[in-house]
Amino acid sequence: MGTLVMKFGGSSIGTTTALTQVLSIVLHEREEWDRLVLVASALDGVTDALIEAAHLAQLGNQRGYRRIIANLRTRHLALIEELPLSTTERTAIQADIDRLLFDMLDVYQNMSQMAEANLQQAFDATIGVGEKLSARIIAALLRQNELRSVAIDSTSLLITDEVYGNASPNLALTKAQITENLLPILERGIIPVVTGFIGATKSGKPTTLGRGGSDYTASVLGVCINTNEIWIWTDVDGMMSADPREIPNARVIPALSYEEVAEMAYFGARILHARMIGPLREQRIPLRVKNVFKPQQSGTLIHNLPPERSRPIKAVTSIPGLALMTERSGVISPISALVDKTLFMTAHNQADVMISSQSSTRSLVCFLIPTSAGPDAVHTTRQTLEENLNENPETQAWTIQPVSIVTAISANLDEFPQAMANIVQVLGGIRIIAMAQGPSNCSLSLVVDTHNAEETLERIHQLVISTG
Ligand code: ASP
Ligand code: MG
Repeated sequence: MGTLVMKFGGSSIGTTTALTQVLSIVLHEREEWDRLVLVASALDGVTDALIEAAHLAQLGNQRGYRRIIANLRTRHLALIEELPLSTTERTAIQADIDRLLFDMLDVYQNMSQMAEANLQQAFDATIGVGEKLSARIIAALLRQNELRSVAIDSTSLLITDEVYGNASPNLALTKAQITENLLPILERGIIPVVTGFIGATKSGKPTTLGRGGSDYTASVLGVCINTNEIWIWTDVDGMMSADPREIPNARVIPALSYEEVAEMAYFGARILHARMIGPLREQRIPLRVKNVFKPQQSGTLIHNLPPERSRPIKAVTSIPGLALMTERSGVISPISALVDKTLFMTAHNQADVMISSQSSTRSLVCFLIPTSAGPDAVHTTRQTLEENLNENPETQAWTIQPVSIVTAISANLDEFPQAMANIVQVLGGIRIIAMAQGPSNCSLSLVVDTHNAEETLERIHQLVISTG
């Protein structure tokens, strides 16, 4: 008994079959725990569609965004039609959906005339609507099944900074909001379904937490209510030794430490939001990643795990990055400053310069594009950087090359020099542009040409399999 926070990802709520699973999971877990808190993502693909609609609104393409919103409306209404809801519930949600979408169209109307600063706010005010829709649908489904439940917009719970598009919650302020607005609901035995991904600034402006941000919502809520565990429900069996779309024989990792999973998320494992781990690690809150369609399986447990001596390399990830190079050596601060500024402008993200190295005749700066920046970030960042490099005499001599950063995840790598030697050896023949061991001692990252990424992944995964 105790408190459990469960987050349901887009693919675990997008169909009636999936929602029926969600219902049976909640019915089961309410017998096991005193208090349940649910966090909902938008249905699969909805956030992508909302981002596209906002871009069209920015361009003043009224027909374009109206078409997208009409499709989203149809999709949500169809889902509600298929669910066994009472007429009262159904009518109430339909009205809610129409109101939310209508308000959004209002914002879209003005976007083509907005200044940059207001535009970012308008994006955040609109791209989180998918979560509001899905939270309402889930809460209604629970109510229909004799559970007391209410949908809550996390704009009244998560107080964030003003980094629109990639905001971070302020834990102290958020905790105060939660004490006021969430705890009383829990005390009354009601199951709140909280919208993931969104928050608000101190002055009440809506923000979003970066792509995949619902995980982060679950983590922040969990920490603030001192939950016993957090479960992330998804449509894969847990954290995998590699992305199964790239490596078909990837397998589930039964247990990981906070450090290992944080490195995996940071270096491109798309299942978890990279910033969700920090708060959990501090409070030692166990996290599980489970498949909504196979709830009996234990999935992956992330906790305070002592290093395993027998299994040095657990996983391999890959993430796109950009390498900047020049045929001379000298100060690299102007180039890092430019990268910082560009990534912030294009992807609302702080740049993480991952590797910088210099010889007497060359300099290299390499950074990765975080998955929270969204799928277009590599392209837009590269384009903007290219334009800016040429404008500044200090950076004119630099060139850009897209790269892949392939990372081997392994507990206490510093104690296993043989594991590092094995990685380098297995990559014989592949050009390694740069290499870095993470300060957490859990990761070894290799920067390779994009066309070598797959081969690099495959070969390191062979090591995962053969040493596992
Ligand atoms: N719906 C948001 C996204 O697609 C947040 C999430 O799914 O966690 O990025
Ligand atoms: Mg996710």
